[in-house]
Amino acid sequence: MTAEADAPLRLGVSACLLGEAVRFDGGHKRDFFLVKTLGRFVDWVPVCPELESGLGVPRESMRLVQMHREIRLVTAKTLHDHTDTVGRYTVRRLEEIAEQGLCGFVLKKDSPTCGLERVRVYKASGVPTRDGRGLFAAALVDRFPTLPVEEEGRLVDPRLRENFIECIFAYRDLAAPLLIPIICAIGLHRVSPMINRLLAVALCAVDLMRHFFREFDS
Ligand code: SF4
Repeated sequence: MTAEADAPLRLGVSACLLGEAVRFDGGHKRDFFLVKTLGRFVDWVPVCPELESGLGVPRESMRLVQMHREIRLVTAKTLHDHTDTVGRYTVRRLEEIAEQGLCGFVLKKDSPTCGLERVRVYKASGVPTRDGRGLFAAALVDRFPTLPVEEEGRLVDPRLRENFIECIFAYRDLAAPLLIPIICAIGLHRVSPMINRLLAVALCAVDLMRHFFREFDS
């Protein structure tokens, strides 16, 4: 067994998905698959950007709002703007995450902070579009463009689940962080969120080939 294979599979996760009572209403969104199945094989690093930013529990629920050209994170009723507070926390937390050697991240869907895709963005008309990305999630994929990232909602699909698991192993085994400076230098990951997924799949493919040739040689 190699040193790589001995390394722990450490994944970040939106803390509410592990059953931690960190949501705005003091509740949680415990996910059975993450806690009972995947949890047997990985070390979770729980993160709740809203709570850890100092917003407390309970707190007023928040939403993404389009203001001119910017998307802001504001409370749903009182319209208090928490974009800068959560943004400052996120910059700090991502630096810590860089030191923690994560192989992937599971995010809470639909959250204005953690949601990866199709998060509601409210326009001036009051009508939301479902084309947003949570504040923390956006910063996470920007900072770690090849890190496998998924939402718990997508992991109910066996094909997507299998793909995610292959990708986290590939990320660990390939020492993917070596590739990140190259990708960032090219700026490829900023072109489209889809590019991040394609890069992760490409890492998986390279890893599978590497394992194949290793078996072939032995
Ligand atoms: S979705 Fe994210 S910010 Fe909201 S409660 Fe869960 S971990 Fe905290």
